[in-house]
Formats: sequence, structure tokens, C-alpha cells
Amino acid sequence: MIVAMQGAASEQDIHAVIERMVELGFDVHRTTGAQQTILAGVGTPGHFDVAEFKVLSGVFDAYRISSPYKLAGRSFRPEGTKITFPNGVVVGGEEVVVMAGPCSVESKDQILLSAQQVAAAGAKFLRGGAFKPRSSPYSFQGMGLEGLKLLREVADQTNLLVITEVMEISQIELMLPYIDCFQVGARNMQNFNLLRELGYIRKPVLMKRGIAATIEEVLLSAEYILSGGNYDLMLCERGIRTYETYTRNTMDISAIPVLKKLTHLPVFGDPSHGVGIRDLVPPMALASVAAGADGLLMEMHPNPDKAMSDGAQSLFPAQLEKLMAQLRQLAPVVGRHI
Ligand code: PEP
Ligand code: MN
Repeated sequence: MIVAMQGAASEQDIHAVIERMVELGFDVHRTTGAQQTILAGVGTPGHFDVAEFKVLSGVFDAYRISSPYKLAGRSFRPEGTKITFPNGVVVGGEEVVVMAGPCSVESKDQILLSAQQVAAAGAKFLRGGAFKPRSSPYSFQGMGLEGLKLLREVADQTNLLVITEVMEISQIELMLPYIDCFQVGARNMQNFNLLRELGYIRKPVLMKRGIAATIEEVLLSAEYILSGGNYDLMLCERGIRTYETYTRNTMDISAIPVLKKLTHLPVFGDPSHGVGIRDLVPPMALASVAAGADGLLMEMHPNPDKAMSDGAQSLFPAQLEKLMAQLRQLAPVVGRHI
């Protein structure tokens, strides 16, 4: 679709046309000809691609003015998204919501003790994987359904909410009765079929950034969930793969303010996977909150040296306690509280 507006058209008129084109589902590109402003609607149900538009308009400085992520874009909900959980915890408000717990649920004793320590530190969610995406098929794969039941049981005893990872569509139904929030792991950020299904349910989802995903790809993946009608979505920076080998991943702190600017969705930081080294987790957690994170997802284990996964990056309980005290001091500086 090409719309040419005479040079006399006001910015207001031009914007009205742009808004209508966006409503119709076009990505809008704009350029200025000799006497007129030319707008091109690219994408379904349009017929032009950007290259054709450039040829047609006879200029080469056409630029995209609407984002390809229509529902995730900040302009869709400029005030920001708030998600209210069953016990009244709100994500996306003034509180910085902390989710903590072991990488994996390993046993009743381990997850009960974890829950008690996480609650004592003042976190609001218990995390713990029941279905684990492991690099090696020979590594511990998680406790499955048994792990989900344990999570629910100990979270209820300690007044915590449950977040845990979903790896495939068939697990969604199974998980629904036991959890408060689905976690989509980095490896599944581009499992588009899974994302689509998570769009059809009515339970919050926290989606992590893929290991090598650009910010635009994160937002396009978010679009898969939002377009199904599930708007209770949080995004999470968890480190990306770079040439640096000292840390497990490179925690892209800048992604937090960039995402906060581009989208209305709450943004979390996961410094545990972000750096992979326990003692680096507290500074990166503090940095995430300073950068505007709405929450933190962190690994803590009652006995990290014995953990069945990610022990090296799991905080000792006392470290979590200390970090929470520091976060309580820092948060007010950026207008938040823990
Ligand atoms: C996890 O949270 O334990 C996990 C596997 O995270 P990620 O998907 O970020 O690797
Ligand atoms: Mn982990």
C-alpha cells in the first residue's frame, strides 16, 4: 500500500494516516518526495517490500516508522503493564519482585529448605526447574511431575508463588494446576509453536532472552504470546553468548533500559545465568535494579556445592540475605522498593 500526501499535509494528518495503516496491520515506512510525503505500508496484506518502495518512491532514505512488534511496543500501553498474582504481588509496579531458588528441584528436603530460606530473605517467588533443558542428555533432567507437586506444596507452606520452566507444549496442561508463572527458557525463546500455545492460556509467562537473540527478536517472540491474547508477559535478560570466556555469558545490562523504553512489558534480570559465577551475581543484581529492572530471577541453593545443576552460580543462603538487604537500600534511589 502506498499513500502519497501532498506537501501541504500537516504532521497531524500524516500521523492519522500512519495510525490507520498500523491498524490495518502494515509496517509503515516514510519518505519525503519533492512535493509530498509518501508512506508505504509493508507486509500483510500489502504488496510491497522496502526495496520496491525505495525504487517506486525514487529515493533511498525511506525509513520505518512503525515497529514490527505491534502489541509489545511501548505505544500500545504507554503506562506499562502490571501483573497481579494470586497473593496480591504485583509485577510492573513500584516493587522490585525477587524470584529465587535452586536451579532444579532435587528432593523434598532440598526444596523445602530452599523455600524457607527464600521466604526468610524476603523474595516473593520460589523458582526451581522440574523439567530441565540440559546441554547433555546424560545430565540430570529434572524430577518432572513430582517436582511440580513439591514446588506447590512447599510454596504454599511458605507463602511463596511458583515459577518454573515449561519446555514443550505437552507440559502446559500438566503444569497449570501447580504453578503461578511459566518460565520460557533461553533455548525456547524461538520455539514459536510453544510461544503460540502460551498465548492461549491465561496464566503469566516470563520469557527469557535467547542465548544469541537480538532485542528485536525478543520482542517479536513476545508478540507470539501477546497475539494469542495473553498479556501477562514478562521479559528477562539472562546474558548472551559473546567471545568472552571469563563469565559463562555476558550479562547485557543495557538490554534492561532498552527494553524498558521499547516495550510496556515488565523486564527482569537473571544475573545467575548472566554471569555464571556466584560472587558476581550480587553486583549484577544491583546493576539490574539500578538499570530499571522490575524484578530479579536468581539461583540460591541450601548447599550449592552439592547442587545437581548450576551450583557454581547458585548463591549461598547468607549471600541472598545480604544481597536483599543491599537491594532494599538501593531500590529507593531509583524510585522502587523491595
Ligand atoms: C534456568 O533458569 O535454570 C535456565 C535453564 O535458564 P536459561 O533458560 O536462561 O538458561
Ligand atoms: Mn539454572
